[in-house]
Amino acid sequence: MKRIVVVSVIGILAFSGLLVAAPAYADHSWGGYHWARTANPFTLELGDNVSSAWDSYLGTTASDWSLSTVLDTVIKVGKTKPRLCKATTGRVEVCSERYGANGWLGVAQVWISGTHIIKSIVKMNDTYFNTQTYNTPAWRNLVMCQEVGHTLGLDHQDEAFDNPNLSTCMDYTSDPSTNQHPNVHDYEELEAIYAHLDDTNTVLASTDGGAGGGKGRPADVGKDINLDDPSAWGRAVRQDARGNNSLYVRDLGGGEKVFTFVIWAD
Ligand SMILES: [Zn+2]
Ligand SMILES: [Zn+2]
Repeated sequence: MKRIVVVSVIGILAFSGLLVAAPAYADHSWGGYHWARTANPFTLELGDNVSSAWDSYLGTTASDWSLSTVLDTVIKVGKTKPRLCKATTGRVEVCSERYGANGWLGVAQVWISGTHIIKSIVKMNDTYFNTQTYNTPAWRNLVMCQEVGHTLGLDHQDEAFDNPNLSTCMDYTSDPSTNQHPNVHDYEELEAIYAHLDDTNTVLASTDGGAGGGKGRPADVGKDINLDDPSAWGRAVRQDARGNNSLYVRDLGGGEKVFTFVIWAD
């Protein structure tokens, strides 16, 4: 009888411990998708395919996300051309170009296999960033930080534009002044997403000599589809507070999907 009581108390303590360990308010992972990796902290490469006007902002974003205890983002030479902005397995390619007056300021496109992220691209649309409205450090920081944040597995913290800013780039806003960098909840959420370890790597370790090697890394999936055009983004799965679609998913078959996160120009 005594033994049963002791076991129950331990059970309750263990359960409470789990509840305390889970951050109560950081819940903006998106589907739990994450880079597979066998150790933390892991290094995620950001391919630099941006113009010189963007270099300092890419640098700021890489430094900001590297403050996380579970990952580091490092800038590497780009492996694509900005207009094409083709994805590279195992890392993120970041591109800037005048992509045209197609409505979007920035997008992040993230390829998924099962629950794992396998590659990603981020695009900054200079058609808008060359205008007076968006050619500001605050807009450049917010959009770069947010789109790279999506490639880590983070969702938005908020999708209303005119409520008070949450002091994070993962918050939609009409006034980016105080939303240029991640906040503590973003780092907590990353810790939650990457609390476990995987048996395989989908992230390209900077030491393993390039894409194509690596145990357990899936082959490139999906055909070469032109992802500049919203009609190629698949099904809209969510709308922001203005009624614009903020997240799309296109099923590529075989358990593989590409998600597209969008920041629309106002
Ligand atoms: Zn995993
Ligand atoms: Zn977004």
